[in-house]
Amino acid sequence: MSRAAVPIRMANSGMVRRVRLFPDAGLKQRCCEVERVTADTVSVIDDLVETMLTLPRCVGLAAPQVGVLERVVVVDVSRAAKPQAGNHGLLCMINPVVLLKAGSLVSREGCVSVPEFTAHVARAERVAVEYLDVDGRRRDLEAKGYEAVALQHEIDHLDGVLFLDRVKSAEVFRRPGYWASATSRNRTSHR
Ligand SMILES: [Zn+2]
Repeated sequence: MSRAAVPIRMANSGMVRRVRLFPDAGLKQRCCEVERVTADTVSVIDDLVETMLTLPRCVGLAAPQVGVLERVVVVDVSRAAKPQAGNHGLLCMINPVVLLKAGSLVSREGCVSVPEFTAHVARAERVAVEYLDVDGRRRDLEAKGYEAVALQHEIDHLDGVLFLDRVKSAEVFRRPGYWASATSRNRTSHR
């Protein structure tokens, strides 16, 4: 096959898109279901993957983070510094729905749309997720641990929910000695 015959569309043919930062209004919207998986949908996925690859240690990205208000996410926890054994590698999900949750797990989360903060967030330890793949086929999978957390974090984005919305007591984790001294000084000045 000559070079000229190589298809123009290659793997990872997406564009790197600008990541929207909190408080971008699009990050607080409920995204629309994808009614039919089209070339445009696949293009959004390609762009999400390409953008994720430019972000060190980023293990997932949701379409609203690049300004597309559709229910599309990509997750790849094999990019983590210490990848979890038995992970699914790159997952590209359209209209993902968490069908089942089990157990609970508190872990430190961050988000490329909220770069200044990390916090401890409680999530289910295991999830079953149903979704459409890039060919429009219905699929499901079970994930646990770090991968389950990443999936819940990304799917939350599709409902305009950020990890900060799930933090109940970030200050307790950041400065463990703070509350005792603050409470003795003044009970009402912290909110
Ligand atoms: Zn995020």
